[in-house]
Amino acid sequence: SRFIVTGGAGFIGSHLVDYLVERLRAEEVIIIDNLSSGSLVNIKGHLEKGVARLVEADLVREGEWVKAFRDVDIVFHYAANPEVRVSTVEPRIHFDNNVVATFNVLEAMRVSDVKGIVFASSSTVYGEPSVIPTPEDHPLKPISVYGASKLASEALIQAYCELYGFKALILRYANIIGARSNHGVIVDFINKLRADPSRLEILGDGTQRKSYLHVSDAVEATMHLVASRLGAARGAEVYNIGNRDWVTVTEIADIVVDEMGLKSVEYVFKRTTPDGRGWPGDVKLMLLDTKRLESLGWRPKLSSRDAVRKAAREVLGKEH
Ligand code: NAD
Repeated sequence: SRFIVTGGAGFIGSHLVDYLVERLRAEEVIIIDNLSSGSLVNIKGHLEKGVARLVEADLVREGEWVKAFRDVDIVFHYAANPEVRVSTVEPRIHFDNNVVATFNVLEAMRVSDVKGIVFASSSTVYGEPSVIPTPEDHPLKPISVYGASKLASEALIQAYCELYGFKALILRYANIIGARSNHGVIVDFINKLRADPSRLEILGDGTQRKSYLHVSDAVEATMHLVASRLGAARGAEVYNIGNRDWVTVTEIADIVVDEMGLKSVEYVFKRTTPDGRGWPGDVKLMLLDTKRLESLGWRPKLSSRDAVRKAAREVLGKEH
């Protein structure tokens, strides 16, 4: 089969490319990425061996990249600006790179008659859920522009399924962590502790509690769904992808400090909102109900806590 992975030079995207190349032995993998947060290092091996091809392009503007969609079977649309915090101060960046880019990808698929899409959505579409663990049919009321941009993208995909016979998997990921990640709480803590090993500034009150899934589990879950559901899907199917448990931000700090071999680090909690969030638009409690995914026979291998430890070791370069 032939695949396109948008954002394939990024964190999750490059792990997906690894899977398509190494495990599925795909005929062709085309990566479309503008290398804004992704990196050539993540995909260099595949490019050198000629088992993947990079189209360096910005999806916000239509261009030559549209031609790459000819004869493709499935598009994995993972390009986006994933920085929830940035979306508060620069909403247009998220509207362009998440909503406009998704629209352009759907149009490229439509004109090339490509029907299958797997979309990287996010737990942030739920906003502040009233039910935890949160199931897929919970009301969708995002509290960040990032979450809103993912929800708008989901809506466009739904409409393309109705109108043009697309088949879609809309995957709402919890926090995904692991090697090659260059953002998020673990990377932030490691960078701060490298600069000053005696104190750690923690955004919010540290009681934020969320579910974390290691990227290896996230890719396995994704490909399990592609294999079992994408062909059979009538229109769009929505799945939560996350862990069955959660950890607090302070617990993450403890694990990172331990893995760095540090002692007596002073935690300084930085209050940015009256109710102890990390930033405006930060969801304090996030645990997804993953029964729909698990009913198809998939279970995560690592708990949230084990995933955090493994990811910290990988980011520190102790594990690959
Ligand atoms: P990432 O920043 O590593 O990957 C995004 C990739 O998209 C990068 O390689 C970047 O260069 C590329 N990109 C961005 N804008 C582009 C544009 N306009 N044109 C072409 N390429 C562009 O982030 P990630 O964490 O790997 O996230 C991948 C996807 O998963 C994103 O859609 C993100 O919103 C979603 N997601 C991530 C998480 C998480 O915890 N990491 C959770 C839920 C959803």
